[in-house]
Amino acid sequence: MSGIVPAGGQASVPSRVATVSLHTSPLDQPGTGDAGGMNVYVVEVARRMAERGVAVDVFTRATSPDLPPVVELAPGVNVRHVPAGPYGRLDKNTLAEHLCPFVFGMLRAEAQSAPGHYDLVHGHYWLSGQAGVMAARRWGVPLVQSMHTMARVKNASLAEGDEPEPETRVLGEDQLVRQADQLIANTDDEARQLRNHYGARDNQISVIPPGVDLEVFSPGSRQEALARIGLPADTELLLFVGRVQRLKAPDVLIRAAADLLERDPSLRTRLVVGVVGGLSGGGMREPGLLTDLARSLGVADVVRIEPPQSRERLADYYRAAAVTVVPSYSESFGLVAVESQACGTPVLAARVGGLATAVADGVSGVLVRGHDPADYAAELYRMISEPMWRAKLAAAAPGHAATLGWSRTVDELLDVYRASTAPRALPLAACR
Ligand code: UDP
Repeated sequence: MSGIVPAGGQASVPSRVATVSLHTSPLDQPGTGDAGGMNVYVVEVARRMAERGVAVDVFTRATSPDLPPVVELAPGVNVRHVPAGPYGRLDKNTLAEHLCPFVFGMLRAEAQSAPGHYDLVHGHYWLSGQAGVMAARRWGVPLVQSMHTMARVKNASLAEGDEPEPETRVLGEDQLVRQADQLIANTDDEARQLRNHYGARDNQISVIPPGVDLEVFSPGSRQEALARIGLPADTELLLFVGRVQRLKAPDVLIRAAADLLERDPSLRTRLVVGVVGGLSGGGMREPGLLTDLARSLGVADVVRIEPPQSRERLADYYRAAAVTVVPSYSESFGLVAVESQACGTPVLAARVGGLATAVADGVSGVLVRGHDPADYAAELYRMISEPMWRAKLAAAAPGHAATLGWSRTVDELLDVYRASTAPRALPLAACR
């Protein structure tokens, strides 16, 4: 971990943190709409912070007048609903218009307590960072920012037919990088992107990988898991989990499955392509894309599209799968890949972004360059036709995932919080 170290006074753990998750609530079901890995991150980190004595208030935009102003998510973790703009689900790209009332709501909530209520603000995604920086400056506390995804990075590797991220976001992220006290990057690759695409300074960035809940996501009997999700014991399940949109490329899996069935038609009776998740982003404008594709390729009979699942139920999908496929065009980390490995199921993923860290290539899974379905089909064929190869990857998968528990994430975040709130925190470079 790089970043800042305290100079001068004693560094202590903050007692209360204002976490900002403006565009999506930690109470939302992940895997559909705007809810995904970031929501999981915010919940898992907040819960563990609170267990260590750091109270967390998560500020999120109220999407309904019926939501209570405050909901306790876990002991020591409150979700605060802030009215800002019209109720209902708004397009993420229009939310910047509602930043002012959102910040006003945060300030009003804080004003009900004694001064110095929050020791630090942690923003998630650029919109939250924009709100967070205004609140942090008003309260005289540091802003720690996690980008999760970045417009320039996404725009540099768009899927065919996908829409680029708007210029407002690019400018907003530029501004935020200049203002944040600390930036949390999931991987060295993300740190490099922050430097190269946004001019972030070395001593501004701390690299802290996210984690996986190793209690929920653990290995188990494949046969029993297949039975629990309603599939026959001899099924070869090729699994996609996540938000259905072009960026995540579930179509690459469906095309690869069609290719696989051409190579080995005998697989047809036992092959199932499972897509677990809901429509998201641009995917909402083309709801029939995957089913139409499956029909046009003649594989509709093997494709099973499932709505978003609870974490516990998802663990059974991973355990039941022969392989989880993550063919994304860009991915700042890829929690799905780690969850699958924690359940003992190897991953076939695109060699992009954080997936190169999340998957140990040739050890717990396989990384593929590019998005040619034939390349994915070739690797799937090898995993299915060489049981020893698949078993070797499966055996190593939980060990790789175990290096990425949330406890480590929270330990390292607390180090950053401590250093950021210490009196006269100086950039590392200034201490040399
Ligand atoms: N997820 C879930 N239920 C589903 C589908 C997905 O809980 O039906 C969760 C999944 O377990 C993972 C997250 O959504 O923790 C997706 O995170 P990831 O980093 O893979 O992708 P992102 O959504 O951040 O792009």
